[in-house]
Amino acid sequence: MPASQVQARGTAADDRWPSAGAGEDPAGAGEDRNGAGEERIGAGAGAGFRVAWRRRLCPSSFALAGLTAVIVWVAVTALLRRGQLATVLSAGRAELAAPLLVALVVATSICEQIWPAERRPVLAHGHVQDACFVALHAVVVIPLMTLLSVGAATLLAGHAPWIELRATEHWPGWLLIPVTVVAMDGANWLAHYADHRLDPLWRFHALHHSQEELSVLTSFRAHPLMHTTGFLLATIPVVALMPARPIAPVLITIYVCIGTLQHANLRWTFGPAGRVLVSPAYHRLHHAPDTQDVNLGVVLTIWDVLAGLAQFPSRADAVGRTGLDGRPVPVEQDDSAGSALLLLAEQLAEPFHARGIG
Ligand SMILES: [Zn+2]
Ligand SMILES: [Zn+2]
Repeated sequence: MPASQVQARGTAADDRWPSAGAGEDPAGAGEDRNGAGEERIGAGAGAGFRVAWRRRLCPSSFALAGLTAVIVWVAVTALLRRGQLATVLSAGRAELAAPLLVALVVATSICEQIWPAERRPVLAHGHVQDACFVALHAVVVIPLMTLLSVGAATLLAGHAPWIELRATEHWPGWLLIPVTVVAMDGANWLAHYADHRLDPLWRFHALHHSQEELSVLTSFRAHPLMHTTGFLLATIPVVALMPARPIAPVLITIYVCIGTLQHANLRWTFGPAGRVLVSPAYHRLHHAPDTQDVNLGVVLTIWDVLAGLAQFPSRADAVGRTGLDGRPVPVEQDDSAGSALLLLAEQLAEPFHARGIG
């Protein structure tokens, strides 16, 4: 990458992280003040340590980790009490790692080689790194998602039982299930909107947007803690509308499949259906460095349309680049990047590091 381009990207990145960047300067100023204090009273070591701690770590990220731990703890204790922990984890795996999803990923990977939006080697850096995220997803994220869902439902039922709409008990399934899935998609849109608007959440979402070589595997490139607010919000309509009935696992799997396809390295717009369903070309615009504020839909585009944030692509459009200006998150395309696993650890640790954002 030309040096001038790196410089330009760095400037844009500084704009993208206003509150965090602003947070560093006062800390630095605080350190200077503390240094003066040490000279005056010779007892500033404790304060100096606190300032250094503040400069190095991001408290909001630890708060989100703590919230996640509480929800998981609620889920585990509730399931252990009912003797259902293993059963529920296994059901979650069946929904979120279903053969249908695996088949979709394999078939889409083949299509990406035949009709790529951007031609690149099978073992491109981005593909290898995102494959590591697939492994992390299978081992860590799927059980986490399952427990977040159970924990959020348990908390809602225990502390806000009034949200359960008993009137829907008599609705026929053909009406209730689509309404619930659409409402769940709306909650997911809201969570995604919050990921982009609130800096503490963006710190975790940025990893997903850092991919410069989009592929179907990028669907799994996400910080595990990015899912906490999404599951908290998406559980609300499910508990409200279907408190006594679970959504059929196959519907969850189909929903996840549509949400996975959107990262494919394909120019597909889905034709007329693309006005309603999020297509790879539609979502790619959301991954462009300069249009991240549009096309936030997860499966349905209606929320973007209602919010005035929909930008529909056409097949004639040029394929734009993706990623984050200035590379605030360490990426595999950087010449100085270490091995895939080492980089994975750096990427997962980055939101906790206050100085990793500039
Ligand atoms: Zn996003
Ligand atoms: Zn995405």
